Amino acid sequence: MPSQINEQQEPIFATAGLADYHTHTPLCKHAEGWPVELVRRAEELQLAEIGISDHNPMPEKFDDWRMDLEELPLYLEAVAHAREKARIPVRLGLECDFLPGQETWIEDLSKEADWDYLIGSVHYVLPGWDVDNPAKLSEWTRYSVDDVWQIYFETFEKAIRSGLFDFMAHPDLVKKFGRRPEGDLRWFYEGCIAAAAEVGALFELSTAGLRKDCRELYPSRDFLQMACDAGIGIVINSDAHAPLEVGKDYDAAVALAKEVGYDGVWFFEGRERLFKPFLK
Ligand code: ZN
Ligand code: FE
Ligand code: FE
Ligand code: ZN
Repeated sequence: MPSQINEQQEPIFATAGLADYHTHTPLCKHAEGWPVELVRRAEELQLAEIGISDHNPMPEKFDDWRMDLEELPLYLEAVAHAREKARIPVRLGLECDFLPGQETWIEDLSKEADWDYLIGSVHYVLPGWDVDNPAKLSEWTRYSVDDVWQIYFETFEKAIRSGLFDFMAHPDLVKKFGRRPEGDLRWFYEGCIAAAAEVGALFELSTAGLRKDCRELYPSRDFLQMACDAGIGIVINSDAHAPLEVGKDYDAAVALAKEVGYDGVWFFEGRERLFKPFLK
């Protein structure tokens, strides 16, 4: 007897039913893919929604990897344009650099548009040193790896405590180039875990680290385990700098999240958050 082949077999992507809230556009000068193209890829992957979150402008010329302040209207327009034809919700976000002492600039920016969410990031460990910038690798010779990590996580804790952001990006970005202190790293994370638990912050679980020298999700399993144990929620994102990076490696992220004990992720609209359990 021929076996029946009539079960409904729909393609199941690891991305199905989830969101990707961390994506970039050419306005930041180091990404490709306009919002329309990012949305198209998100729809192919059956993502439930996508958010655009380019690097925030600064009041004055600051570095060479973000939109200019004059380009903010163009950014808002590009997202609005992508929304017109989209079959899924397209959220408006911004990845904001946290710089201690310059919090008022983020407050100003928060009033500039109807943001669905603001992402808090620490890239700068010291003035002029963006720790993830390959052009600044020589800076690492001037400090011990332990010191760099300590400064990074102290700054990240301040960013969490500022309460300015809807979630915190790539929590252990400082490991990007694979430079890690010796031994147990958990004590570097403790201040950030405590801060996030106190203020109700959320962490991003980012697949971008898998594409970098560290070859690991941001944050590490230990960090994520501590966060889960402390009751801190997460958002899974790709940090796409090109359309084909949207939703990338979500299978790995979802697997790790479940392993440490998560049963869902947070969604955003109009700077309100909503918890959604994993589909399966
Ligand atoms: Zn970027
Ligand atoms: Fe970033
Ligand atoms: Fe980013
Ligand atoms: Zn980023």
